[in-house]
Amino acid sequence: MSGLLGASEIREIAERIGVKPTKKLGQNFVVDANTCRRIVKAAEVNETDVALEIGPGLGSLTLAMLEVAKSVVAIEIDNRLADELPETAMRHGFSADKLTVVTQDAMEVSSLSIDPTVLVANLPYNVSVPVLLRFLEKFPTLRAGVVMVQSEVADRLIAKPNSKTYGSPSVKANWWADMSSAGTVSRSIFWPVPNVDSSLVRFIRHQPAGDEALRKATFRIIDAAFAQRRKMLRAALSDLCGGSALASAVITAAGIDPTIRGEALELGDFIKIATTLNK
Ligand code: SAM
Repeated sequence: MSGLLGASEIREIAERIGVKPTKKLGQNFVVDANTCRRIVKAAEVNETDVALEIGPGLGSLTLAMLEVAKSVVAIEIDNRLADELPETAMRHGFSADKLTVVTQDAMEVSSLSIDPTVLVANLPYNVSVPVLLRFLEKFPTLRAGVVMVQSEVADRLIAKPNSKTYGSPSVKANWWADMSSAGTVSRSIFWPVPNVDSSLVRFIRHQPAGDEALRKATFRIIDAAFAQRRKMLRAALSDLCGGSALASAVITAAGIDPTIRGEALELGDFIKIATTLNK
């Protein structure tokens, strides 16, 4: 059998292996081959890539990745799905050597036997942001990727300062990469049909602005600023700096007005505050 998975085969496999999609694991499977090819194309996967997939499920996207990548590494928490994936790939004519399946919670994966170069994933929605940030941090060889997430989360990942959706995910993701929209996806291409809209986010890694110590310090400032996003920056950073007066002094020394809110700051401003605080 060649080609990608279709809707009836997906249901047939799920039934055979006893998988009833659960909300808890964000199991909404893509049943449309064209969408899978579109996602892989948007990620610009090529024949030299080791493509990483988080949550391959029944393999819809995995097969589209196997069509173009040198190899695919897929991390799946549900062992019934993980066990079936190599069978599905082989039935569709792909060599077993091209696919490595890791049966694990992606939030616990810190290393892989092969260095992935591109990430393509329809992420489990309940953990999409922490999973994405984790993989950007732990796998510096990932140069780019496309992830499918809930539209509301996509808006947050690509948001710019002074918008309602701008927050900690926007700034933290921007530490690692340039994030942009790669379009929306119709609800009708999923089984089961979810009750939220989905969108694609593309990322391209850039040089980080500093080392791990600076990143951690910057992320602490970001967390504090957005934990109390309605407050002025000097109040939001008060605990971190040892009082409001000290916070004011640090923020001013970084060249920033301490009476503005965190949501007005760009990543570069958070870095300036972290650098000043560290001195
Ligand atoms: N990629 C498939 C597709 O597009 O049809 C499935 C995507 S589905 C939205 C999310 C998948 O992630 C499910 O297969 C689910 O079992 C898996 N999953 C959920 N939580 C996970 C975790 N923490 N680590 C790894 N996989 C996870």
